[in-house]
Amino acid sequence: MGADIYCAICCGPFARATVGVEQRSSVWRQHHFRPNVDLDVVDQNLPGSAGARDQPGEGSNVASAPEDNVMDYVYSPDVILDEVENGQVRWVRDVYLIGFDGSRAAIFGPGSHDDFSYVNMEVDLDPFGNEQECWECYTDTIQQHPSYPFHKPCYDVLARLLSRDKEMSAGETERLYQAMRTLGEDCGVALDLDYRLEGQEYEQFWVVQRGKEYTVTSPAESPAVLMHLQSVLQKNCFRQSSVDDASTGSLREGQDLFRNLPREILHSIVAYLENDQLPQLLMASRQVRAALRHDNGFWRLRIQNTMAWFFELLGYLDHHESGVVRELDLKRVFEWANTSSKGCMGMKGPLMVVANRRRIWETACTAIQKVYHAKA
Ligand SMILES: [Zn+2]
Repeated sequence: MGADIYCAICCGPFARATVGVEQRSSVWRQHHFRPNVDLDVVDQNLPGSAGARDQPGEGSNVASAPEDNVMDYVYSPDVILDEVENGQVRWVRDVYLIGFDGSRAAIFGPGSHDDFSYVNMEVDLDPFGNEQECWECYTDTIQQHPSYPFHKPCYDVLARLLSRDKEMSAGETERLYQAMRTLGEDCGVALDLDYRLEGQEYEQFWVVQRGKEYTVTSPAESPAVLMHLQSVLQKNCFRQSSVDDASTGSLREGQDLFRNLPREILHSIVAYLENDQLPQLLMASRQVRAALRHDNGFWRLRIQNTMAWFFELLGYLDHHESGVVRELDLKRVFEWANTSSKGCMGMKGPLMVVANRRRIWETACTAIQKVYHAKA
């Protein structure tokens, strides 16, 4: 029995991120076998084939496969990037808390999740001087003020958004606590937000979905991501070229709604578009394409303004020797970064770091920031 609570920032688990080698999930089989009636017959005869345990969440590829309930769900050791200890992803196990004693808020840890909503911690870590050992999270049946739990790498991502790498002052820490309290109302296991985990955060226990290793990949800034980035951006396809890579479309000049628009107005309009929509507009309008396609300054600003979660790319564009960066086709870099950082079933490789960070940034961090600023 018991239950899990989840990180207030990433909604990931504080345990049960189990990594295993023995089982093959349906995702693995889909990639390695053709559909095979015999395989299903064999599966039906395996012990536990009727068990309902470890059912994956709704909306995933895994959930749709009929033979899934015979599998123990474990993350693939070939995909997990972070340290594994005793069969568990290590970084998720340390719990940090933001707590409040009625007069001030504090961030402290590490401790460990006990059961239900409780976190245990060494008594000398109590920042309020009461030598408290057991802390209740999200609800307040034993404390006047609930605590909110998180992983340290997730907090570092949030702090980068809220305080731009500055140490948070006592007042800012209290504001963060109050923001979490606002978002945590009436919710016992995580903040009341859509974390883009397809419902698995509301299960009694964390639902391990093989193929979704990126959701338990540390979002901390990563040298491996930077190395990957450097290697990718060396490819010829990212070099500037005078050749336009888009078709010219079927619009005649006179049909283009964007013709004769002043540059400033055009920039104001595209600022309202989602990153996925911007390349579509360039495909649809010759005028927009002519104005923006090779404007590296525009694309650099777009990356800075809309991809703040891609720490390694921003650092690379800022600090890398200017000659190399000057030769880059930043529109293509923008499209690559936007596409390759989307978390998806079956994702592998160092960009899982960025995908999880992006998910965290675009969901909880942005929601917390809104409330945090409203409390200023
Ligand atoms: Zn987290």
